[in-house]
Amino acid sequence: MPEQPRSAPQRAPRNQPLTAVKGMNDILPGASARWEAFEARVRALMDRYGYQNIRTPIVEPTALFVRGLGEVTDIVEKEMYSFEDAMNGDKLTLRPEATAGIVRATIEHNLLYNGPLRVWSHVTVFRHERPQKGRYRQFHQIDVEALGHAGPDVDAEQILMCRALLRDLGLVEGRDVRLEINSLGQADERLAHRAALIAYFEAHADALDEDARRRLHSNPLRILDTKNPALQPLVEAAPRLLDFLGAASLAHLDAVRAVLDAVGLPYRVNPRLVRGMDYYNLTVFEWITDQLGAQGTVCGGGRYDGLIEQLGGKPAPAVGWGMGIERMLLLLEALALEPPAPAPDVYAVVPTADALATALKVCEALRATGLKVLMHGASREGLGSYKSQFKRADASGARVALVFGADELARGEVAIKPLRDASASQICRPLADPAAWAHELLHA
Ligand code: ATP
Ligand code: MG
Repeated sequence: MPEQPRSAPQRAPRNQPLTAVKGMNDILPGASARWEAFEARVRALMDRYGYQNIRTPIVEPTALFVRGLGEVTDIVEKEMYSFEDAMNGDKLTLRPEATAGIVRATIEHNLLYNGPLRVWSHVTVFRHERPQKGRYRQFHQIDVEALGHAGPDVDAEQILMCRALLRDLGLVEGRDVRLEINSLGQADERLAHRAALIAYFEAHADALDEDARRRLHSNPLRILDTKNPALQPLVEAAPRLLDFLGAASLAHLDAVRAVLDAVGLPYRVNPRLVRGMDYYNLTVFEWITDQLGAQGTVCGGGRYDGLIEQLGGKPAPAVGWGMGIERMLLLLEALALEPPAPAPDVYAVVPTADALATALKVCEALRATGLKVLMHGASREGLGSYKSQFKRADASGARVALVFGADELARGEVAIKPLRDASASQICRPLADPAAWAHELLHA
């Protein structure tokens, strides 16, 4: 059901809590650790492959995406959050993908002046789609681009990067995620295929849906990317672009395949794989899982040798991929491959307020040694009972509680109480030099 556009801004009644925009999610403390663990793997990966980080604005001129992605694409036709700048009337869009913005920045700052460039970005993107599991209106991608390289070596490198990341996360290629590749050839080859495609779909015009009929003459290749299950048999039997490729395009594909074969990475050539944007040529690929239903593509990419020139830059080839972070995390969850929830090493129990200054000082000294220390904090009602503090200590997942009780403090000591090991007994250590016994807390 399409939503009715609102004619006037709506005001929530006073005191009524406001909620997030539909399809846009909060990433709460309980989940953010999984994001950070994933992001840490990504950063390490980019370092290993020599990709530098780039960050471009979330808002770009609408024309960038219309020119870059193609007018007759799902994204540009119906998924963009576009608006006019209320101050000057500029037509702006919340970025629906990362590549166009990175290419714009590359051209604007002449980044290819000194040679080719390998960059990556962690991007928040926006698409007005029907929200469901693995499909949201604000979502996140890891985006990777190599600009100025003609491939096919870099095409293969980028596919292998994906594999390395998937492996780092505990996924097995060919089992948990499978690779599909194809070639979209060059413009003249797509033109010859296009004529065959139009003739074929015209002969089956009755079977087409509204989108397909509209695109039949403007962008028939997009019909192959349809999500409508009813069209699948028709699409399956359509003329294959692969059969229209010349020797150079086939050689490029073969060179990528030779690398994949050489490293033993299983893949399937899927002649129907066309991707959703018009900028692609030659190599395209997707990593797909069976665990997430219709939202099974976790990563997609390919070569876009014409885009830099099309956006006003000096012609230069390029290749890149984008990975949906939400989908990757859902996949890790489905396969029980999530990292353990992080917990502090130590929880400081502070029974009375007069112990606070000492407790804070000791906790600081312990943190300086690298320990993760969570100190009990007072509520409006005060610090709470000894028992309630221990409940918190337990729930925190800490290995030990440091107890700043009055008796211990009077002796110049603090008690260390193991929380996970029932057979271990409580010990005391001097308040004077926490650094001297900090290491014991790791093994308590
Ligand atoms: P789909 O076919 O599932 O709509 P797409 O081809 O539109 O995906 P891309 O533009 O290639 O997706 O974006 C790269 C990745 O971003 C996808 O492989 C997917 O993992 C993720 N992704 C795309 N759209 C969404 C969305 N609406 N919500 C969450 N993740 C998404
Ligand atoms: Mg899509």
